[in-house]
Amino acid sequence: MVEKKVALVTGANTGIGKEIALTLATEGYLVIVNYLFNEDKAQEVKLEIENKGGQCHLQYGDVSDFKIAEEMMAEVFNTFGRLDVLVNNAGITRDQLVLRMTEDDFDDVIRVNLKGTFNCIKGASKKMLKQRFGKIINMSSVVGIMGNVGQCNYSASKAGVIGLTKSLAREFAPRNIQVNAIAPGFIETDMTDKIPEKIKEEMISGIPLQRMGKPEDIANIVAFLASDKANYITGQIIQVDGGMTM
Ligand code: NAD
Repeated sequence: MVEKKVALVTGANTGIGKEIALTLATEGYLVIVNYLFNEDKAQEVKLEIENKGGQCHLQYGDVSDFKIAEEMMAEVFNTFGRLDVLVNNAGITRDQLVLRMTEDDFDDVIRVNLKGTFNCIKGASKKMLKQRFGKIINMSSVVGIMGNVGQCNYSASKAGVIGLTKSLAREFAPRNIQVNAIAPGFIETDMTDKIPEKIKEEMISGIPLQRMGKPEDIANIVAFLASDKANYITGQIIQVDGGMTM
């Protein structure tokens, strides 16, 4: 077993996931960067971590594929002998009003955001329960709490992540494993870059803090939830949204 604490972040080559990987590496974790697209971006994250003296391992794989997720988790335990923190961050959007939303738009989003989270937890659960420690942090969204026009698939997936988080927090608590979720508001990443300027302005006007959040606003909360400082917190949904939902 490696001595360093090990953290795996899914979809960690861009946006919020990248920032989480960099932050956890700074905190001293050996970080496993899972990615599916853009290997060059994953290599950049690894280089950035190593240049600061940290340790990073790249892991290619599609979290929405049950068997692949199972194999990825088995590989982590075989290689490092432990998994202290699992951050289920990978996610997609396929926004569309329901009248125009296709069955694939709906299924794809549920498969990656909700089933992908289940797949990774399921893959890691046996060994994590046996080791009797671990933190699982799932990425939900404010949209999973309040809903949003054009995002019935995405909001259903993120509401699903909330239910899954609370159920597994109860299931895993006797084995000293904390399961929490973060519900980010409107954060500056590639995902929100796609939104037209006019709609962005309208959204910002509904945020009490009057600005979008940054990936580090989320990464700092992940680092806290992953730490021993959060040992008595489980089954919680932490809203990091500039006051959008309260
Ligand atoms: P992003 O698109 O930069 O990050 C998502 C990452 O997930 C990408 O690297 C993508 O390649 C990866 N991914 C997609 N499908 C995958 C799969 N099947 N297997 C492995 N990786 C896969 O966007 P982001 O804004 O950084 O989003 C990160 C998470 O935060 C997502 O779950 C998203 O839903 C959530 N979130 C984002 C915001 C926001 O405002 N940006 C708000 C609320 C929640």
